[in-house]
Amino acid sequence: MSITFTDLSLAPSLLRALADEGYTTPTPIQAGSIPILLQGRDLLGMAQTGTGKTASFALPLLHRLAETPRQAPAGGARVLVLAPTRELVSQIADGFERFGRYQQPRVTTIFGGVSQVNQVNALKDGVDIIVAAPGRLLDLVEQGLCDLSQLEALVLDEADQMLDMGFAKPIERIVATLPKERHTLLFSATMPKSIAALAESLLQDPAKVEIAPPSTTVDRIEQSVMFVNAADKKDALLSLLRTPGIGQAVVFTLQKNIANEVCTFITEAGITAEALHGNKSQGQRERALDAFRSGAAQVLVATDIAARGIDVDTVTHVFNHDLPSLPESYVHRIGRTGRAGRSGFAVTLCDAEQRAWLHDVEREIGRTLSVHDDHPWHSEEARHSTMRPPVLGGGPVKQIKPQKKRERKVWTEEEKNAARAAAKMT
Ligand code: AMP
Repeated sequence: MSITFTDLSLAPSLLRALADEGYTTPTPIQAGSIPILLQGRDLLGMAQTGTGKTASFALPLLHRLAETPRQAPAGGARVLVLAPTRELVSQIADGFERFGRYQQPRVTTIFGGVSQVNQVNALKDGVDIIVAAPGRLLDLVEQGLCDLSQLEALVLDEADQMLDMGFAKPIERIVATLPKERHTLLFSATMPKSIAALAESLLQDPAKVEIAPPSTTVDRIEQSVMFVNAADKKDALLSLLRTPGIGQAVVFTLQKNIANEVCTFITEAGITAEALHGNKSQGQRERALDAFRSGAAQVLVATDIAARGIDVDTVTHVFNHDLPSLPESYVHRIGRTGRAGRSGFAVTLCDAEQRAWLHDVEREIGRTLSVHDDHPWHSEEARHSTMRPPVLGGGPVKQIKPQKKRERKVWTEEEKNAARAAAKMT
């Protein structure tokens, strides 16, 4: 018989909130982590997005706060959660508020891109929980506006992504201001050496909870690849988006300008879409996400950095307009579908220049993606390409070279339907 939340000895106020949420059975990461965390042990959790990770740390930490009520230290907090993006920060804070609705903890979010005034005011009297992106939090700490010297518990969520985003130093500097005696939790979807080293330096005798083997992708997501010429990518994507059976979709692009271009292209073709990337203001990002959440936009076109907090259960498909340059990002991207026990589809468009990145992804996930080689845009040249991938980072990003101009074939509806059927998208 599977365990229920009542078997986990959580505070009655939490059980009530869980009942309101309609949660009865803990997910594997919750069943694995909560008893360990209730004992106060450090934890190294390996779990992908969509596995119920948020509740696995929010519930035991709220339990701890309920069991040991005390005034939060002025200018600081009892619990700190670090997460890579504003979206994820907001989502985690929302989780604490929902699960803590009968406990009313003081939760505040801290991230860049908005004025710090409200954040500083919220911290003045102390809060129970800070959920923060590392950059802005370090700013406040270094300005003497946030004092974490009395912190009781630290959570690093999506630690691999935080390191990929260059937050290693800010994390190190924030941790240097924390008490040595504390409860520490680290969650990561992947376990590269850098994360193992971070875990080693931060955690004391941690229990390890691993929900899926390192870097394997969620089984419920059917993954495939379409080899195409770079010049055909937008058309191929549009055709995929028009396939019947597609609910909501997230499209990933490599760069912000490509996200904008793709968004404009599909919007002009009559598909409701929003773009989400780091060049958008906080307000624009929130509006784009709200439109997607409410269903007003069917498609969200996003870059990796902006995508971490997208938690929309109705996403049926993820389309990679571009391969990610970091293979781990692939796992995070496809985790935007197949959420809350549903199945999902992930289709990756791969051109000649990104072929090497597909090899990296396949190595990372430990399997080869099935190939749609019978669609109108299929390119054998891309499939067998040995081109070097574009060099990214350190200065302006190199534009992806346009493929040599060629006459574009005009496909009949019949040919397109055959291609869609071949792509088994429904
Ligand atoms: P997370 O991995 O924390 O982002 O959670 C993924 C999704 O699963 C969210 O939509 C949660 O609301 C949902 N969820 C998490 N835990 C449970 C549970 N025990 N029962 C039902 N749904 C859950």
